[in-house]
Amino acid sequence: MTEIIDGNAVAQDVRDGLADAIDALDDEGVTPSLATVLMSDDPASETYVSMKQQDCEEVGIEAIDIEIDPDAPAEELFDTIDELNADDDVNGILVQMPVPDHVDDREVLRRIDPAKDVDGFHPENVGRLVAGNARYKPCTPHGIQKLLADAGVETEGADAVVVGRSDIVGKPMANLLLQKAEGGNATVTVCHSRTDDLAAKTRQADIVVAAAGVPEMITGDMLSAGTAVIDVGINRVDADTEKGYELVGDVDFESAKESAGAITPVPGGVGPMTRAMLLWNTVKAAGLQEDVSVDL
Ligand code: NDP
Repeated sequence: MTEIIDGNAVAQDVRDGLADAIDALDDEGVTPSLATVLMSDDPASETYVSMKQQDCEEVGIEAIDIEIDPDAPAEELFDTIDELNADDDVNGILVQMPVPDHVDDREVLRRIDPAKDVDGFHPENVGRLVAGNARYKPCTPHGIQKLLADAGVETEGADAVVVGRSDIVGKPMANLLLQKAEGGNATVTVCHSRTDDLAAKTRQADIVVAAAGVPEMITGDMLSAGTAVIDVGINRVDADTEKGYELVGDVDFESAKESAGAITPVPGGVGPMTRAMLLWNTVKAAGLQEDVSVDL
């Protein structure tokens, strides 16, 4: 029987588990806070930010909403980040990507105080992750580690294939699976658009993490029996629905589930975990900054 991994349920467990930590902070007079900065009028970015704020409020994290005109000079965003860095009442800072073309996104990541960088994308935090001493694990791969653990998928000694090498998903995922630590100790292969014979790689995998942004590219014939399949992709494809589209993953769910031992659906798999782990990192940030021991 293929296990369909329920990301909504695991995300709820994560949120429930944060309640004790938030209580411990509350006992010390601390309410964790996350500042979200939106410099875009893209409807998808607006939706992502409002979902993150709503998630915060539901668990007792203060959400600070900052919007900057997308036509404003880059300095306005950098000045805002500087102010948030200096504000002791702000524990986490998240700048919603992408920022407009006239803003250097690498400079945005460098500008955020690494102690408040709850996305885990600041070069210092990337370096710490690679060195096996992560402060904030990036939310999507961290959430995937939790999903694998919850489904009882052993990573130690497993052959893991990560499809995609982006800075936000593929690379940190590969690093986490490689770490000499719980949820790691896998033998990791990272594939990308130049990989020769992808199917040969995925067929020898015990774990496949698909993060390519290509609709339904991983099909059942590319998997061996019993593989754990984690589908990160969120792709809009034309469909005969009210909205005119539907969301599909990078995995062809129907054929893949015939081979897979466990598989995440889209939606309802990785997406809810990404959101939950942002809350986790924000609570961790509050504990670190306020010197309160939080049990996460
Ligand atoms: P990017 O576009 O930044 O990276 C995609 C990666 O996939 C690249 O490394 C690219 O290779 C590789 N790739 C593209 N086509 C192929 C192919 N045919 N075969 C093998 N590799 C290929 O995407 P992201 O990492 O940002 O996101 C990936 C997907 O995950 C997207 O659908 C995105 O929407 C989704 N996503 C979902 C999240 C969630 O919470 N569920 C969170 C973040 C992203 P190369 O480097 O050679 O170009």
